[in-house]
Amino acid sequence: MHELSIIQGVVDAVRESAIEHGLARVNKVKLVVGKLTAALPESLCFAFEAVAVDEMFKDATLEIEERELCCICTCCQSRFQVNEDYNFICPQCGHGQADIITGRELYIDYFEGDEV
Ligand SMILES: [Zn+2]
Repeated sequence: MHELSIIQGVVDAVRESAIEHGLARVNKVKLVVGKLTAALPESLCFAFEAVAVDEMFKDATLEIEERELCCICTCCQSRFQVNEDYNFICPQCGHGQADIITGRELYIDYFEGDEV
């Protein structure tokens, strides 16, 4: 499962950073996830519940911010949003090549924790 390995990586990274900052508990983890990653928020939350169960994470919540898939046409430079059909044809000029601006994101925006 794609989401499970993502969350495993996220939890490992947060744990490492929390220890570095002297935090004993993690309360909240905020993730930014682009549509192009094909990671479903529900599945990410489910995976988080399954993985983040130890002392440090037992009260932690996961917040996910989804980023739409947006492109810029390489021909006329107009920006447009791409939906689930993955149609990258420019709606302005019909050009078939576009650069992705947002939608590939997959990173930890921030996390919060306690020292005790
Ligand atoms: Zn165009």
